[in-house]
Amino acid sequence: MTIATRSSQDTIALFEKYVIPNYRRSPVCLVRGEGSQVWDAEGRRYLDLFPGWGCNILGYCPPRVVEAIREQATRLIHVPNTWYIEAQGEFAEILSTRAFGKAFFCNSGAEAIEAAIKLARLHTPEGRHKIVSFHNSFHGRTYAAVTATAQPKYHEGIGPMMAGFRYAPFNDLDAVESLVDEETAAILIEPVQGEGGINIPDEDFLPGLRKIADEAGCLLIFDEVQTGMGRTGTWFAFQQAGVRPDIMTMAKGLAGGVACGGILASEEVAPSLRLGMHASTFGGNPLAMAAGIATARTIEEDGLLENCREMSARFRGRFEKLKDELPIIAEVRVKGLMVGLELTVPAMPVVGKCMERGVLVNATHDTVVRHLPALSITAEEVDEGAHAIAEVLRNYV
Ligand SMILES: *Cc1c(COP(=O)(O)O)cnc(C)c1O
Repeated sequence: MTIATRSSQDTIALFEKYVIPNYRRSPVCLVRGEGSQVWDAEGRRYLDLFPGWGCNILGYCPPRVVEAIREQATRLIHVPNTWYIEAQGEFAEILSTRAFGKAFFCNSGAEAIEAAIKLARLHTPEGRHKIVSFHNSFHGRTYAAVTATAQPKYHEGIGPMMAGFRYAPFNDLDAVESLVDEETAAILIEPVQGEGGINIPDEDFLPGLRKIADEAGCLLIFDEVQTGMGRTGTWFAFQQAGVRPDIMTMAKGLAGGVACGGILASEEVAPSLRLGMHASTFGGNPLAMAAGIATARTIEEDGLLENCREMSARFRGRFEKLKDELPIIAEVRVKGLMVGLELTVPAMPVVGKCMERGVLVNATHDTVVRHLPALSITAEEVDEGAHAIAEVLRNYV
């Protein structure tokens, strides 16, 4: 079945004429999806191990989210923050009771980072403005977020960058200690680096950052845009680190694929985002909030945190075994359903070859094949995907 009125080629022609070419796109037009499967305009089926860049945390068109959006759209689509809406209060309650603090909503990850940085500067005393972030981090593309993103390739040609940012190597507590001073407002870190190649911190690293922040009197911000909403097998990644951040950012899977971002800030820090100091016109709108509530309910009612941990172990088992067989796999890095294969060769050709076999994966940081599958992925789908990737890697030339 197809609902497309144009072929993939005809749609691509429209893009060539009318859309700014700032993205590298696969030459395929997707038209319909269900769970971990998606179909193109020609009716070809793909198994997607990277649905929606991690935003489709429940896969394509999760039924309860679709129903919640449908129902909400008949009553109110948009209401700005000059009014109260039940869904925003309820979604904030859901997030707070599964994590901590109070919520502010926006529409994307970068916007959540902007809010977190602004709040950290507002909360800490006058003169504290510096933000310490980490090499190979990724925090988004708006100016503060991309300045915090410590990868030179994302800064090329767009300077001057924002003032007040300092960068430390990941997993290096001594370096952080030497960068943090009386001008530091916050340390900002992804509890597992995503775009940087699925980099998992040493056990003492996140607790060490908490200690440094407390001693220095600055805040600790966790960017859980990619790691949140069950992605790592708990609601949020901080819950496995044994420390709580002062501010946490969220987006990607937050509303099951509907554009939605937000922060949670501790009870102590939250009031510093005082009246009139920040806003987002679309932030916390009824449609996104209804989708977010339905996403959270689905995760709990369907036992998807458990499924995440089980499918994580299944991926790990398959890929560890493959690593023993194939020397081009240098390392297998798995945290929940963040699954990275570090290769000794470029990862990009693997993406194209997997697509030819009907399996969608991502390449990041030059040599890492990255998977962010839906939390609802089945054992059969894991096996199908792992088999295709194994065949592609066995034939890598
Ligand atoms: C994707 C991502 C962002 C940016 O989110 P956008 O919605 O694209 O602005 C920020 N932080 C992390 C950790 C991400 O993975």
